[in-house]
Amino acid sequence: MKNKLIVFSAPSGSGKTTLVKYILEIFNEIKFSISATTRNPRGKEEDGKDYYFLSSEEFNNKIKNDEFLEYEEVYSGNYYGTLKSEIDRIWKIKKIVIFDIDAIGGANIKNMFPDETLSIFVMPPSIQVLKRRLLERGDVSKQEIDVRIKKAESELDYASKFDNIIINKDLEESKKVAFNLIKKFINE
Ligand code: 5GP
Repeated sequence: MKNKLIVFSAPSGSGKTTLVKYILEIFNEIKFSISATTRNPRGKEEDGKDYYFLSSEEFNNKIKNDEFLEYEEVYSGNYYGTLKSEIDRIWKIKKIVIFDIDAIGGANIKNMFPDETLSIFVMPPSIQVLKRRLLERGDVSKQEIDVRIKKAESELDYASKFDNIIINKDLEESKKVAFNLIKKFINE
């Protein structure tokens, strides 16, 4: 089987992380690319599982050493990036890499590996629904929600760069769509 990548991108609160977790449970041949970030862990997040939590200095050193495939200041002051070593680690064990990254990072990865990548954009039904979901989630402050909504509006412009768009109105339906897209991609 050739080396493959699956990118899931979406504005924060669209349900992308839930879909990625579902896919990881179903497909043993797919493994999660753990990003590096300078933001602090939230809730039950674990270092080396959800993210590699780095200090700004550690992150900058990795930039200098050219260790990132892509990185971005996703929210002001907070950096997120995909380490080249993550893809190597997963391809070495003959698995498919799945990414949960923002729309710009997702579009960049598709550009870097156009033939190897299935890119999926998860779209919220509306900005209002997105705001409600972020409020209900309760893990980010009101101020942070405003920042995320602003970013979501600009991220939606990237949707057309992706191979597929899932409008996440109904989670069970979205899971089915994601499952079918990925099953087909794996068997190609
Ligand atoms: P959160 O702070 O909610 O975990 O993530 C904020 C945003 O950063 C999400 O859209 C998430 O997908 C994105 N993100 C996570 N890791 C990466 C990465 O390695 N690169 C890029 N470009 N975005 C990332």
